[in-house]
Amino acid sequence: PRRFDSIAMAAPDAILGLTEAFNADTRPDKMNLSVGVYKDASGVTPIMKCVKAAERKLIEDETTKGYLTIDGLPDYREAVREMVFGDQVPSERVAIVQAPGGTGALSVAGGFLARQCSGGPGGPLRIFVPTPTWANHNAIMQDAGLLVENYSYLGSDRRTLDFDAMLEDLRTKPKPGEVVLLHACCHNPTGVDPTAAQWKAIASVIAERGLLPLLDFAYQGFGDGLDQDAAGLRTILDHVDEAIVCSSYSKNFGLYSERVGAVGLVTASAEATKASLSQLKKVVRSNYSNPPRHGAAIVATVLADADLTASWKEELETMRLRITHLREQFVAGMSEQAGAPDFTFLLNQKGMFSFSGLTPMQVDELKNKYGIYIVGSGRINVAGMSEDRMDWLCSAVADVIG
Ligand code: PLP
Repeated sequence: PRRFDSIAMAAPDAILGLTEAFNADTRPDKMNLSVGVYKDASGVTPIMKCVKAAERKLIEDETTKGYLTIDGLPDYREAVREMVFGDQVPSERVAIVQAPGGTGALSVAGGFLARQCSGGPGGPLRIFVPTPTWANHNAIMQDAGLLVENYSYLGSDRRTLDFDAMLEDLRTKPKPGEVVLLHACCHNPTGVDPTAAQWKAIASVIAERGLLPLLDFAYQGFGDGLDQDAAGLRTILDHVDEAIVCSSYSKNFGLYSERVGAVGLVTASAEATKASLSQLKKVVRSNYSNPPRHGAAIVATVLADADLTASWKEELETMRLRITHLREQFVAGMSEQAGAPDFTFLLNQKGMFSFSGLTPMQVDELKNKYGIYIVGSGRINVAGMSEDRMDWLCSAVADVIG
């Protein structure tokens, strides 16, 4: 019998589907504020200069295309260890595995957790994710075999963190040993991050309740700066002796298509690190066997060279400041629109995204009337805005709100 004839069509990815619609839109003044990639003033997602320089060097020096080991390129793993954990955790307590992007890292971490850390009697291990969260968190963790639950995050004003509800949920919902996923910085989709004092309180609850924190670190350098964006993670690591950090270099090195990420698993002892690393490698082996070399080699090359590292930090800072400036310009622009609501709450949001508070109907009208594409939740990719067309954007937004 034929097996494929009766297969049902899967729902298109909400965000990537919007990009398809955007590409098919023939209006010349359309604007894409949906997909989560950085764009420069000319609307291009650029290759960083430090990346180009590292690539030139790699092409010269590369002698083989042989497989990497299952856990990836040693220099890259060491660079990740330094960047994410620095001096805070001794290296014998950290197992690092290179992974294909932050998505791959989350998937490897999920597979490891499902296999190695059992749930309650008879049930799968539960992982608690914020409401809302990056939609793929649910899919990745479910596919890995975990049971996904939620904790409160965004308040009903859709602008600020409902910290009391979040803390109450973390105190009462997960049982000791269960996993709590936290966005280390630049929360996607809301741009709403905890303050330093709130991170401390979160860390205390996690420690008191014996929960296992899994930090998703996909936007380091896009919030307040490279070091500043690691502050929440540092606070958590100060309070616990076991944690997982899934990092991505897609955004902060602009290496989206090269698939560069890592799992950093913190244990309480050198023995636990060795055993955990061996089990992480088993997850990788039966999945994609070993990771791709090129992107990781770029990151390792940049971070091994003082000049390239300086250039990387400068370029990253330029991207960060451009986004901040666009956000400020948008808020100022909206304040000049007669009758438009106050958008200053956007100034507290961090990273590439802002939760605008626009309703699905307003989002729809922006698309139909103006060719401005925004995700249905009202999440705006600020980097997709344009300095030159800010007035046009603001009057369109004011129009659909009014
Ligand atoms: N985590 C979050 C919160 C993200 O927004 C993204 C990308 O959009 C990722 C992880 C994964 O990034 P990538 O797999 O492209 O490295």
